[in-house]
Amino acid sequence: MGMDYRNEMEKSMLSAEARQKFDELVALLAAERYGPNGPPIDTTFAEIEQFGHQTGRMLGRSLDEHLTHQHAEHFQEASCPTCGASGESDAAENKKTRPLQTQDGKIPLAEPALHCPTCDRDFFPSAERSCD
Ligand SMILES: [Zn+2]
Repeated sequence: MGMDYRNEMEKSMLSAEARQKFDELVALLAAERYGPNGPPIDTTFAEIEQFGHQTGRMLGRSLDEHLTHQHAEHFQEASCPTCGASGESDAAENKKTRPLQTQDGKIPLAEPALHCPTCDRDFFPSAERSCD
C-alpha cells in the first residue's frame, strides 16, 4: 500500500528536515492520544478521523497565530491616517490582540496599535493598510 499521492505532494513543499520533524510530530501526537501501541482494536475510523481533524485545526490555529504575530512586526511605525504625524508605540498597548475567527477556530490576532499625540487617538496601521 503506497502513500497517498496528495499526502506526498503536500509533504514535498517541506524541506527534508521539516518533513522529518513533521513525521516525528505525527508519531508523538498519535502516541499522546493512543499510547505507544496505537489505537485499541475496538477503535472506529470516525474516532481516529476526529482526532486527526481536531489536531489539524490546532496546528492550523497555531500557525495562523505565529505568522500573524510575525507579520505584525511590519507595523511598528506608521503615520496617523488623520493628520500624518508619526504614531507613537506604547509597548503595552502595542501588544493588543483581538479574537479572530479562522477556518480552524478562533485565534488571538496580534493587532499593533499606535497612538497619535496630535489627534490623541489610537490607530491600527495593519487595519488601515488592509482597507486600501
Ligand atoms: Zn493624528
